[in-house]
Amino acid sequence: MTRPAVVDTSRLSARRGSRSTPKGRVADPAALAEVRALLGDAPRRADLLIEHLHRIQDAHGCLPAPHLVALAQELKLATTEVYEVATFYHHFDVVKEGEARPPAVTVRVCETLSCRMAGAPALLSALERLDLKDVRVVGVPCVGRCDRAPVAVVGRNPIDRATADAVASAVRERRTDALPAQAIDYAAYRRDGGYRTLADCVSGRRTADSTIAELESSSLRGLGGAGFPAGRKWKIVRAEPAPRLMAVNIDEGEPGTFKDRHYLERDPHRFLEGMLIAAWAVGVDAIYVYLRDEYAACRALLEREIAALVRDPPCAMPPIHLRRGAGAYICGEESAMIESIEGKRGMPRLRPPYVAQVGLFGRPTLEHNFETLYWVRDILERGPQWFASNGRHGRKGLRSFSVSGRVREPGVKLAPAGITLRELVDEYCGGLPEGHELYAYLPGGASGGILPASMADIPLDFDTLQPHGCFIGSAAVMVLTKSAHHVDRAMDAARNLMRFFEDESCGQCTPCRAGTAKTRALIESEQWDTALLAELSQVMRDASICGLGQAAPNPVDCVVRYFPHELER
Ligand code: SF4
Repeated sequence: MTRPAVVDTSRLSARRGSRSTPKGRVADPAALAEVRALLGDAPRRADLLIEHLHRIQDAHGCLPAPHLVALAQELKLATTEVYEVATFYHHFDVVKEGEARPPAVTVRVCETLSCRMAGAPALLSALERLDLKDVRVVGVPCVGRCDRAPVAVVGRNPIDRATADAVASAVRERRTDALPAQAIDYAAYRRDGGYRTLADCVSGRRTADSTIAELESSSLRGLGGAGFPAGRKWKIVRAEPAPRLMAVNIDEGEPGTFKDRHYLERDPHRFLEGMLIAAWAVGVDAIYVYLRDEYAACRALLEREIAALVRDPPCAMPPIHLRRGAGAYICGEESAMIESIEGKRGMPRLRPPYVAQVGLFGRPTLEHNFETLYWVRDILERGPQWFASNGRHGRKGLRSFSVSGRVREPGVKLAPAGITLRELVDEYCGGLPEGHELYAYLPGGASGGILPASMADIPLDFDTLQPHGCFIGSAAVMVLTKSAHHVDRAMDAARNLMRFFEDESCGQCTPCRAGTAKTRALIESEQWDTALLAELSQVMRDASICGLGQAAPNPVDCVVRYFPHELER
């Protein structure tokens, strides 16, 4: 049986007082009727604002102004509050009165590094030349399918290794929905012994203390990028007063990262079981799972599999709420994600207090990345040594590298922590394409820096790359090469990434908002003002509120440090 939530989210959402009458404009009766019909019997709570905006966007292909006013009235929020949230997220199209609605179909072409190297600019130009009827074509940041670059998404339907013809035929045939993923379902997972470990936990055959101790000795660390030891995090949150909550981060927006999607599409219950074990060990009252909007197939899969689990639960479980992102890289930052789950703009919070103490709805919150939880069942069943005994060059554990760029076999590679780039490419990726020579690599996605080929023998893990001005983050490795016909210049990569950071900065603090824009403008030139860039970098690192602004200078600093020959042209 599932337990009801003990957390009254409407009361804990302290920032928003409910009003008896709407402030500002009065809703158009027709729009209000439509909004009421779309919301059905869904609760009219402020924390569900983004969910409700999705309902309107899905139905209309945009957010018409009268509907936003109506939604504000229905939720008893100020209209400005609804507007500020609706305009924050890339996937919402606010249409003001008198403006034309967007075309029926949106084709999103990924423009981030691996897709750019695979021909995204040419694909964009070819699609624009086709001038498809009632279609708009837009460049977008990473959609999490970098191993199949270039990628275009027609509506919600991702087209891997996209060509203009493939996109045009998907548009013509109105194939705009994501195909369901073929995953191990609930029945198959249970037949294979799934959820027995969770049942052992809940029934008392395992204790929370011994479970946490096993996690600690496994060396499992947060695999979203921060690398905080998982067992220690469980202990910290467990020591906080109840009610405690849990927030699971499947925003996976770091360019180059697609490992969470890879595992989720194949084995969702391994993750759900790990999540429920963590919730039990920490004493969590409700779980919120935040999934990026780009992963439409995963959303359908999770909805179906969570419903199957709740219908026939293996033991008592806290309620699980699935929340849908709306296209904002910054929501991968834990406190920004929490703001977004609360129905607000995804703006990072100042810390302290940390989310472990004051997190979701003001409660102590266990925040975890998807993959960290994915390994919990295996660690408990195979023993902590199974995980810890992996590793190379003195490091411990396993890492799921999302490898893209110029390798023969890109994809998710489960490899020992501490493996070097050269070993990873040779042993797991089939080597480089014929005639290519390693030129550079990104060890940790857009923000983890760029290293030259001469540094391809550094162990890849948490803490090993910092002395070189880089970090592993979510282990998104992008490989750049040179051949007789091309060089993947680090300068061009840095330009691509800085455009991304400028677009994705939430704008809350000046060093990041102005720093990313100024840096981007400076590096568009062939002659870089390295002294000014260094000053900007220092200010951004020292004074930005969150990791986006602090890490955004990494690629540019690496170009100056490791690729000075590119600047001498
Ligand atoms: Fe927002 Fe950038 Fe400041 Fe982070 S560093 S809070 S993304 S403006």
